[in-house]
Amino acid sequence: MYPQLQYDLEHIEDMLQRVQEISLAYYQNVGESPAAVAPPSRKNQTLPKQGMGGLAVVNHFLKKVAPHLAASGGPRYLGFVTGGATPAALIGDWLTSTFDQNVASDIDSIAPLIEDEAIDMLRTLFGLPDEFSGSFVSGATMSNFAALAIGRQWCAKQIRYDVAKLGLYGLPQIRVLAATPHSSIYKALSMLGMGRSSLIKIKTIPGREAIDIDHLRFELAAARAELIPAIVVGSGGTVNTVDFDDLTAIGALKKEFTFWYHVDAAFGGFAACTKETARLTKGMDSADSITIDAHKWLNVPYDSAMVFTRHPDIGLQVFQNSAAYLGDVQDVPAYVHRTPQNSRRFRALPAWFSLLAYGAAGYEEIVTRCCRLAQRIGEKIAGNDRYDLLAPVNLNVVCFAPASHEVDVGALLMRLRDDGRVFATPTEYGGRSAIRLAFSNWRTTDDDVELVWQALQECL
Ligand SMILES: *Cc1c(COP(=O)(O)O)cnc(C)c1O
Repeated sequence: MYPQLQYDLEHIEDMLQRVQEISLAYYQNVGESPAAVAPPSRKNQTLPKQGMGGLAVVNHFLKKVAPHLAASGGPRYLGFVTGGATPAALIGDWLTSTFDQNVASDIDSIAPLIEDEAIDMLRTLFGLPDEFSGSFVSGATMSNFAALAIGRQWCAKQIRYDVAKLGLYGLPQIRVLAATPHSSIYKALSMLGMGRSSLIKIKTIPGREAIDIDHLRFELAAARAELIPAIVVGSGGTVNTVDFDDLTAIGALKKEFTFWYHVDAAFGGFAACTKETARLTKGMDSADSITIDAHKWLNVPYDSAMVFTRHPDIGLQVFQNSAAYLGDVQDVPAYVHRTPQNSRRFRALPAWFSLLAYGAAGYEEIVTRCCRLAQRIGEKIAGNDRYDLLAPVNLNVVCFAPASHEVDVGALLMRLRDDGRVFATPTEYGGRSAIRLAFSNWRTTDDDVELVWQALQECL
């Protein structure tokens, strides 16, 4: 064995202890660390001929890397939609690496059954019936990609065509109908060879980001008249104003039209966790496929999301990966046949840990608190004449802009980042450069809202 490898094997206890100390210090003080930091300029790292050994790399990491990392799992990293890691999710994630399972086949360990259990618990959390099967993937983008791949196969079958076998060559361009789709829907269409231009934007209800059902009906009728298959992507929470399409009304259109119904509920799906907000996700269960992220509001470490579908049999046509050495496809196919990935991390374990550790009530509390904190900062912004609240605060996102159009929003965001109390990200809304704050971290409290508000005033 290479000497440094042998040495590290013999000193694994010291190494793990050191990493535990570092992790503990970081995790306990993440609220005091700058929410984000300006990245330093890139330097080249040459591959050493002789390795320095694990502990020396730890020291190197502490000097060179750690000071430049964001506190993205902390309470005031409010950019994008970012979760964190609950204590149970963190230890679940450690054990995922320690046990290092490959959850592809179902013949060598209990791991796939634990993924099933995590999916079962998540179905309950989101109020989805048993007909939905689910799998873990790396993020909502990958989930949208997998769901649209299944939807494409289903659409083609409606006109007796097998895309998985024959490719797209003999198929008319499937029409994808959506009002305010997330950018990852376009990316998925590009990757699927369906093309970004296959997305037809449906009108929104005036003053909202939610779909105009009459216009959707009109476009569905047009597609049907032209014998073109259709996919409808319903929005379970838009990123700017967390507006929800009327998911029930879209589902009801299936009585009139034939289409694949996908719901992108990457973070909005968690509205199902509280009594006050559950009405928003009503009708989500009428979808054929659903995307929900885990590294957002479930608060498990990156990267993790779920793809749910009512049609695992169609998914199998797309993703089956038969090979003599992998065994035959069973009635309940192994995970290798269910998603784009063959080899798969035991990504379900942190979710399984956190769901068992905190239960439905724990997630109800996290979601309720995040929404309340978003409301609070929204009220402060609305009541202050230096900022304009651009949209009512729905669920957990606050979309606002400096009242003065003279202020350079990009520069303001950089000042906020360098101040370190809060990390916020830009958007555009109603033709204005704007700022978004998204609350989805389990740690965030009222005190954090005060700090964020101070920073917003002082950095303007
Ligand atoms: C975040 C998000 C995505 C993309 O998620 P990733 O996990 O970053 O791949 C897709 N759709 C919606 C609505 C989102 O909020």
